[in-house]
Amino acid sequence: MSETKVLLGRVIDAVGDEALENGAVVVAGERIVYAGPKEQAPIPENADILTCENATILPGFIDAHIHLVGSESVHKTGDTPYDLLLTTVKDLSDLVDAGVTGVRDMSAFGRALKDAINAGNIKGPRIMVGGRVLSMSSGHCDFDVSKPVAQCNEEDLTGFMMDGPEECYKGVRRQFREGAEFIKICATGGVSSAIDDYNDQEFSPEELKVIIDETHRHNTYVTAHCTGTAGTKAALKAGIDCVEHGVMLDEECVQIMKKNNVPLVTTLSVALGLADMKNLPPHMMRKAQGVKEASMRSFHLAHEYGIMVALGTDYSNSPNTPFSEIGREFYSLTRCGYTPMEAIKAGTINGAKLMKRAHEIGTIEAGKLADLVLVQGNPLDDIQVLAHADNVKLVLIGGKEQKRMDGVKHGI
Ligand SMILES: [Zn+2]
Repeated sequence: MSETKVLLGRVIDAVGDEALENGAVVVAGERIVYAGPKEQAPIPENADILTCENATILPGFIDAHIHLVGSESVHKTGDTPYDLLLTTVKDLSDLVDAGVTGVRDMSAFGRALKDAINAGNIKGPRIMVGGRVLSMSSGHCDFDVSKPVAQCNEEDLTGFMMDGPEECYKGVRRQFREGAEFIKICATGGVSSAIDDYNDQEFSPEELKVIIDETHRHNTYVTAHCTGTAGTKAALKAGIDCVEHGVMLDEECVQIMKKNNVPLVTTLSVALGLADMKNLPPHMMRKAQGVKEASMRSFHLAHEYGIMVALGTDYSNSPNTPFSEIGREFYSLTRCGYTPMEAIKAGTINGAKLMKRAHEIGTIEAGKLADLVLVQGNPLDDIQVLAHADNVKLVLIGGKEQKRMDGVKHGI
């Protein structure tokens, strides 16, 4: 039987710091059974041998920051949640075609999408469910002040508002009840929000304590949206476990992160490209100024201190953030002083660690699940190879073929 697949090419396993030329990755069923030099590979006679011109084999990409709520949601077109859910099904397929085999999702749909993918009903990456993003009212997720908070909380697919310790208990527990595997909060205001400033410090110390304690009691972690410096620092001091965006980190923030092993999730393509985006509302245009320089400073600092960085995009398959170009995030990280290999590890093994699945995915090693991507070109010479889905020729998730483009040939 031809259950065995063999991928031939340059192997970047995200374990070592060098690529292996003329390598082979052998997949039997859902797992990798061999990764190493081609000459020593155990290749059965009837194996499906796959390669392409100038082929590089990588672990599947992991996007640690995404909101799977349907691309049109950002434009408030009046679509119902049902319309948006169906858009999301298409978006998931686009993600996989771009080489993304794992995501941390922060939206109301995550649990249902994860179950549908696991059941084999739809095509999509592995999902770690974060539930909705928790914010105070008047904070980063307060997008429509014409409606009462309770109504927003029933209708919003991305955010959920809570005020006071009592509501924080309930809000956190509600996310777990709806399938969350980690909790995301807003520690500061943001660029996209309508009524706050990104320097606003959001949630009181009492509220933060409740959120963090309650989440830890569920044996998982709190990650925080962090733009302005003061709110980021307060959240770090309160004990959050992970930082998203980290737009305005100062030396003290990074020192606390180093001491407490707090990782940083990127979203740099958005941060570096904000000022050039089209059709942004005026409040965003105003706030976008300076975000690029601040982000570059933050990530240089994080690099200097050896903070673990995981790749995230905040992309939504909108015209400004197409999933076909989600791999631009690798390039964006290299613009902040990271090597191509460091960027690749940020988008593979480090993401797997944040998904709490590093023992199963994130590297190319015998015994791990076969989440693999075959690209045409050498991303160590030109990281932009990863920036477009057209270069992603073959995608496997758990050994199952998800995409095979023209140009993939049977190797020998
Ligand atoms: Zn986000």
